Amino acid sequence: MTIRLLSATTANRIAAGEVVERPAAVVKELVENALDAGARHIRVALEEGGIGRVLVEDDGHGIPGVELELAVERHATSKLPEEAMLFAIGTLGFRGEALPSIGAVARLSLTSRVPGGEAHRVTVEGGRKSAVQPASGAPGTRVEVLDLFFATPARRKFLRSPRAEGDAAIDALRRLALAWPEVGFEAALDGRSLLNLAPAHRDARIRDLLGADFAAAALPVAGEWDGLSIAGLAGGPAFTRANALEQHLVVNRRPVRDPLLRTALRVAYREVMAAGRHPAAALFLELPPHEVDVNVHPMKTELRFREAERVRGGVISALRRALGFGVGQGGGNSSSRSMGYAGPARLSFPPPQPHRGQGFAEAPLPLAFSPPSPLEAPATPVPPEHPLGRALAQVLETYILAEAPDGSLVLVDQHAAHERLTHERLSAEMHAGGIRAQPLLLPAVVELPQAHRLAEAAPELARLGLELEGFGPGAVLVRAMPAVLGAPDPAPLLRDLAEELEESGEGIALALRLDAAIARLACHGSIRAGRRLAPAEMDALLRAMERTPRAATCSHGRPTFLKLGQAEFARLFGRS
Ligand code: ADP
Ligand code: MG
Repeated sequence: MTIRLLSATTANRIAAGEVVERPAAVVKELVENALDAGARHIRVALEEGGIGRVLVEDDGHGIPGVELELAVERHATSKLPEEAMLFAIGTLGFRGEALPSIGAVARLSLTSRVPGGEAHRVTVEGGRKSAVQPASGAPGTRVEVLDLFFATPARRKFLRSPRAEGDAAIDALRRLALAWPEVGFEAALDGRSLLNLAPAHRDARIRDLLGADFAAAALPVAGEWDGLSIAGLAGGPAFTRANALEQHLVVNRRPVRDPLLRTALRVAYREVMAAGRHPAAALFLELPPHEVDVNVHPMKTELRFREAERVRGGVISALRRALGFGVGQGGGNSSSRSMGYAGPARLSFPPPQPHRGQGFAEAPLPLAFSPPSPLEAPATPVPPEHPLGRALAQVLETYILAEAPDGSLVLVDQHAAHERLTHERLSAEMHAGGIRAQPLLLPAVVELPQAHRLAEAAPELARLGLELEGFGPGAVLVRAMPAVLGAPDPAPLLRDLAEELEESGEGIALALRLDAAIARLACHGSIRAGRRLAPAEMDALLRAMERTPRAATCSHGRPTFLKLGQAEFARLFGRS
């Protein structure tokens, strides 16, 4: 067969497969064009999920009549006046592909009017371009796309139901609206209004899009380093989601789904979020345009950072600061923080004193079994300096029931609470120079596939109170374990740690990796549900919780205690 050049129509249809694979992509491209044109208000109307019709109207600077024909040509763009700018993109579009691609596979009608000029229209149907005609219309641009993929029926088969396509299109619009709070957005689907966003400040726009619940539970994130800045809101540990869909990331005003940033979120929240749950966040990253390459993905929803590890490390640090973790000094500076977020009951505790006093954290629980509950409650009032109150009984060998000074009942999950305390204790030791190791009477050989990774990390692990070395292929020899943990089985603990080291990756500061590793250790060294506790042990646990920051959630982000006040009782008993 002889070689021949493809016709422009065919080339555009092929390109269209990448740029406009579904209505959401059409909405995204057209709205981005409107934003690039400086629009203050953008109106979107969809029919049949956008498959039948997508209309995008803006009040931007418009396209002069003489350029209208060029606008729908392939590789025609006004956004790269100099080609050298390709490496410092300041607009959302720059490839000159959207309009010709849409025109190749649908019926496109582009009407535009510059301020002080007349309106003109050009249409492209299945790649066939009409002559530019005078038209009528307000200043700005109006793009209507009918019958998506009518010209390429094979592609049409890949579309999902109008409902699913409509949802995806609205989602694409929401993501752009989040990135551009100063612009007003309206959207309707089959005549029904779905979005109506007035121009707003960033936080107000976040609340409009992610909900008042999120905004109320969210923590401000802010950070700046070497020309890079991060700002936004991150959900508190109690605000979790079953998937990562409510993680909104905006880089230089471009909504992106960047795996690097997703990992950063996962690592930052690991100790305060249960496995399988996801944080919600709206984060805005600004960095010099030449630090990011947006030209790696046809739809520009993924990008490449020139210094990816640095960006990831910075994002993790900013998030962890927002969450109330100290960073940069071993396990964190636990003496200078207070509870950075509210647990189920908004108590605030005095700062902990990890190296003074006879707290629970100082004295591991005696392992002896103790007399069964319930206890006799003394008649003296509960001292007000103990907000978690006096232990009354152990329930189901899992929970501690206590009476608070204000008469509320407090229910503490003994494992969750102890895990948090162990965690804090380990962090404090780490901060004070390293976690104390307890040599094993007999070194233990543990076989596991990631043995080499652990052996490589041996110096790091020594700071965690874990002394080990490689022991042939696929095994390590453990000589000492962190003293605080008692004597847990080393095998599951090492498997967890190996996984942790693998996930957090090389680029993350040592301090952060250790911090995350500590959370894993804590889980292995804590009293389990099902252990009977003596009255003194229960009270010691309550006192230690009061002294400990972040005591309201366990290392996995579940609450450690619940509080029922008199008002709740009155309501439950129908007294109010
Ligand atoms: P790109 O956005 O990559 O430049 P497009 O095919 O999306 O390519 O658009 C081509 C050109 O048409 C743009 O560079 C811009 O000059 C013009 N244009 C498209 N949409 C609009 C709009 N809504 N308002 C003003 N100009 C527009
Ligand atoms: Mg464009």
